[in-house]
Amino acid sequence: MAAEPGRVLKPVNSSSGPDLATAVKPGTGRVQEKTPTSTDSARYQRMAAEPGRVLKPVNSSSGPDLTAAVKPGTGRVQAKEKTHMSSEATRKKWTLEDFDIGRPLGKGKFGNVYLAREKSTKYVVALKVLFKSQLQKAGVEHQLRREIEIQSHLRHPNILRLFGYFHDKSRVYLILEYAPKGELYKELMKNKRFDENRTVTYINQLASALLYCHSKKVIHRDIKPENLLLGHTGDLKIADFGWSVHAPSSRRTTLCGTLDYLPPEMIEGKLHDEKVDLWSLGVLCYEFLVGKPPFEAETNTDTYRRITKVDLQFPPYVSEPGRNLISNLLRHDPNQRISLDKVLEHPWIKDNLSPITS
Ligand code: ATP
Ligand code: MG
Repeated sequence: MAAEPGRVLKPVNSSSGPDLATAVKPGTGRVQEKTPTSTDSARYQRMAAEPGRVLKPVNSSSGPDLTAAVKPGTGRVQAKEKTHMSSEATRKKWTLEDFDIGRPLGKGKFGNVYLAREKSTKYVVALKVLFKSQLQKAGVEHQLRREIEIQSHLRHPNILRLFGYFHDKSRVYLILEYAPKGELYKELMKNKRFDENRTVTYINQLASALLYCHSKKVIHRDIKPENLLLGHTGDLKIADFGWSVHAPSSRRTTLCGTLDYLPPEMIEGKLHDEKVDLWSLGVLCYEFLVGKPPFEAETNTDTYRRITKVDLQFPPYVSEPGRNLISNLLRHDPNQRISLDKVLEHPWIKDNLSPITS
């Protein structure tokens, strides 16, 4: 049973297997689709974790730090070491009872994502619900564990925060930063393609987020429009760390989905490192400007051939400096790809950086 927009959903007792689609009377425990604004942020400053414990966000742009520890009772934030914060995070036991559940935000492979609000602070989040049975059937529990481990430790304005997780008998729940403007993919479909300013703004944000990931030896490996969400100011947020690994890796992805974003070394099953993300950045940059990925073909075999040959062709409207950056990212030899530092310094990026107005 799918919830209607605006309909209020309320979790029932988690031990009895909560029905997330149980509608309750509108007006009670209503989840407003609203992210904290600067005026709101003061109100959201306090996250009650457990009785006597208060949690405080680091700053409004990165959302509440659900893992920060404070002195019980005083509401005063203690300066704690990172290690303390993470042990604090594991100590906090979230349950479904802590949240009001709102409308579905989207459908995932292993369950749905819902708008939700932490009851005591009214902080709005996205709750990703995954069915254990389906995770088991697909044999991806290990992958999920890695996704949680990696994403919960990353702090960057262009990386979707994972605040925490919990589980009951049948489901695993991920508490995620809510991205009010939804999927970048939908924006691209609506606009057919993006202009240079908008493309550059996104590529700049992506490059900066990837630079941060790579500094932590994390490679994403699955950068594509479906995995990019938009924050309330239209800022890009990398989501879905399901395929990310620590570099270097020879781990193969199951080549079931689209090949379009995979670099030659991955489809050829070779050892790969963080330079796979440079390739994907080039593919994305092309797709933003043109409206479709560069090596698209009728069959997987043809896509495979076009990628390994780097069969790259530009429509006439792509500018010379734009072509230059894309061609320098889409090099067959990973070591010849332009570095993220140089992407950020590229003249085309510097000349076209401007805030998005839409
Ligand atoms: P994966 O891509 O790892 O297989 P999935 O496709 O199963 O994951 P998600 O992509 O995480 O699931 O979520 C499904 C959809 O729900 C997204 O495409 C998006 O529309 C919506 N969604 C997910 N997370 C959020 C969020 N934090 N804020 C807003 N919408 C979200
Ligand atoms: Mg997805």
